[in-house]
Amino acid sequence: MLLLGWVAGFFFLSGQVDLLWSQSKSISLPVKKRTQAAPPAKSVSVSPSGYQSIITWSKKYGFRAYWVKKSKVLRLSNSANTLEFEVDRSCIVINGVRVWIGKPVKIVSGRISIDAQDIATALDPILSPKIRKTVKVVLLDPGHGGSHPGAMYQGKKEKDYVFLIAKETQRLLQQKGLKVVMTRSGDQTLGLSARSDMSARTKADLFVSIHHNAASSSSAKGAEVFTTTPAGAQSTNPDRSGSRSWTAGNANDAYNALLAYQIQQELTRQIGFEDRGVRRDRLGVLVSNPVPAVLVEAGFMTNREDQKRIFVKSERDKVARAIADGILNYKKAVETGRSTVGSPTSKGTVVKKL
Ligand SMILES: [Zn+2]
Repeated sequence: MLLLGWVAGFFFLSGQVDLLWSQSKSISLPVKKRTQAAPPAKSVSVSPSGYQSIITWSKKYGFRAYWVKKSKVLRLSNSANTLEFEVDRSCIVINGVRVWIGKPVKIVSGRISIDAQDIATALDPILSPKIRKTVKVVLLDPGHGGSHPGAMYQGKKEKDYVFLIAKETQRLLQQKGLKVVMTRSGDQTLGLSARSDMSARTKADLFVSIHHNAASSSSAKGAEVFTTTPAGAQSTNPDRSGSRSWTAGNANDAYNALLAYQIQQELTRQIGFEDRGVRRDRLGVLVSNPVPAVLVEAGFMTNREDQKRIFVKSERDKVARAIADGILNYKKAVETGRSTVGSPTSKGTVVKKL
């Protein structure tokens, strides 16, 4: 940490920080010499086997690297993308959108590094989508239903509002020529595995479950999109299941992340939801889902700012449009191999968000 801080500080001051990354060999000797007395980096206890240098990884994308905060926050940018990595945090920012990962960014052997599994399940799938068959059938899953109302706020039930959002999302996607199936056509009670089992039965190409959040604190607000947690990895929220073993949903780890990112990007950009990020949890409708699958939490029923986005039709329809656009972005990404990214958030604010 100290080592890297010194290096970056020096090059930052000299205005050549981005050259540093392509000439790491030429600088390694003087750096070692001049930091002899420095204590070992804080993260030496981390097994280096899974960690890889972010700078080395970034070269294949032609990124330039800058320290936003010396030895603490690293920014990478190229013509299309801006990424930020904060040391000791399990959250990265991709074009202004937060993405939670399995292990914290660390300084390993003096280099800012990220776990290889997080590269494979978060960074690469979002920045460089793998082409696969196009999306023709979408399965939308309005949460809860029937005897399960979901969250409640002043007599209003989550199950009713997520159904309305799903119906509008369905209408918008049908306009684009997609076939859209709903897990429930009305106010039926439906189990979690029954929902995820429908993915195969309906020959869906992707699955999106739609929910609203609620919290005891009325200040909690914003949107988040969940994928199932990659095998072996820690969930963003404390794990609800004891097992971290591989499940069928993990076959689509990369596409899950891409789909979640595209939806979260539109929810935060179009609607202005507070960005709670792309998150990971072993949720019932996701763990065994055979197709790329995510669960959207579109705002808090218990927060004033979010309430209008849930309870007012004109605002709610915009949320549906954002979800539909995220799905369409995903479709385009798997057809072309290119992610849809808007212009990154302005430089100063990205840092504060971390
Ligand atoms: Zn719910």
